[in-house]
Amino acid sequence: MESVKEIINSTSFLTKEDEALIQRAFDFVQKAHEGQKRLSGEFHLDHLCETAKILADLNMSPTVIVTGLLHDVIEDTEVDEKTLEKEFGQEITFLVNGVTMLGKLKYQGAERHKESLRKFFVAVSQDIRVIIIKLADRLHNMKTLSPLPEEKQKRIARETLEIYVAVAYRLGIRKISRQLEDLAFPYVYPEEYKKTKKLVNFKTEKEFERLGIFEKSVKKALAKNNIINFSTDYRIKTFYSIYKKLIRKEWNIEKIYDIAALRIILPEVKDCYNVLGIIHGIWRPLPDRIKDYIAFPKPNNYQSLHTTIFTGHGNIIEIQIKTKEMHQEAEYGITSHLVYKKETKDSSGSNFSWIKRLLPINKDSSLLEKKLNFDDIPSWIKDLVKYQNTQAEKDLQEDFFKERIFVFTPKGDVIDLPINSTPIDFAYTIHSDIGDHVGGARINGKMTAIDTCLKNGDIIEIVTDKKNSPNQKWLECVKTVNAKRNIRSALQKKNNLHLF
Ligand code: MN
Repeated sequence: MESVKEIINSTSFLTKEDEALIQRAFDFVQKAHEGQKRLSGEFHLDHLCETAKILADLNMSPTVIVTGLLHDVIEDTEVDEKTLEKEFGQEITFLVNGVTMLGKLKYQGAERHKESLRKFFVAVSQDIRVIIIKLADRLHNMKTLSPLPEEKQKRIARETLEIYVAVAYRLGIRKISRQLEDLAFPYVYPEEYKKTKKLVNFKTEKEFERLGIFEKSVKKALAKNNIINFSTDYRIKTFYSIYKKLIRKEWNIEKIYDIAALRIILPEVKDCYNVLGIIHGIWRPLPDRIKDYIAFPKPNNYQSLHTTIFTGHGNIIEIQIKTKEMHQEAEYGITSHLVYKKETKDSSGSNFSWIKRLLPINKDSSLLEKKLNFDDIPSWIKDLVKYQNTQAEKDLQEDFFKERIFVFTPKGDVIDLPINSTPIDFAYTIHSDIGDHVGGARINGKMTAIDTCLKNGDIIEIVTDKKNSPNQKWLECVKTVNAKRNIRSALQKKNNLHLF
């Protein structure tokens, strides 16, 4: 089959068994999604293959690639969890379930919820691989957004920009976040996009010409200094990041010097400083624009030397100097550490073997239990687990994400509660007065008993009734300390009234 070959050819680590597994998953989804078409007229199968291809391109493991093929099977077909587990095992089923759960995340509109939604996104997925699969799924959905109704396009694009781009960026997967950004931009800010495009198009043609000429001079200069082991390429800023910069520069494109930058990639860190010295010896740098992100990495762990120089004739060009590893890290982030290689005897001692232990984030491999050296862990991983860590300590060392659920208010506020919490817990978390007068609860639009256990992603609306007040039964169906305390004190007040 053509598509299976394309997936397999996108990666280089696969064994014959891996390839057979991918073929089997392809046959499985071909049958399960038979005849299903998307609004674009494409078969759903194309979407699944494209998602798997993006994952293969990131060099993800066969498990992840196969999950890319299977990711919609629970949501969109007759196949149930049991069948899936029988066919493809527990791990893949766990991943498919995670992706399905993330699909329930809907952007609720308000700016102030962005951060909570990102947290929710990370919390619900539990396993970093689920996030990466969801990012690949979203990337292909963004590429095929145009047949959708305008309102839906806007919602999905905004959600992509606010949540998915932010998550991909934090994981350092610039290769994905950059594409998502530029795909979403025209839908979210159509006028600004047009304006930016007009300004940039006028500029880039000239820019490319200049870069080409300058690249030759740089190569010559490095060769003269006996540096031959290097490569160069261009980095073009995305329309969206140019737009963000334009806002800061009063829409004056002449004030943006790094629309296109020349990259020089070298074997070692000392080569980078050496090359910076050579370049500054020939071309005069702009003051204040020399950035040493090798010694002082950006918060997302980005490393590189940046300088902006006068090339003569009034032209200015940004140069980025980095090692191959830094380049990999900048493009692929966390995925560059998950790159699939067949386990060999000596791979156990590799620098990043600890990452494997960190994944999936579940009870028997959590950071807490393994007592990994926290300082060895890059900041983007720390960001992911820090939240888990501090809360887990508060919750008596229990695995935070396993023990908490995330639910929404009708306005989209994210509330996190202990697992098995009920609408009563939810009500008391909002306000004690609402808690004291819970009359009923609407969960996802349906009236439900107030002792129902809440699930991740539920949207809850509390109906209050001034005549209602806490009773003994409530105490038995709440999980939060706050609710218990409030109910007890209300009950006590009631008793006191009876006494006097
Ligand atoms: Mn999908």
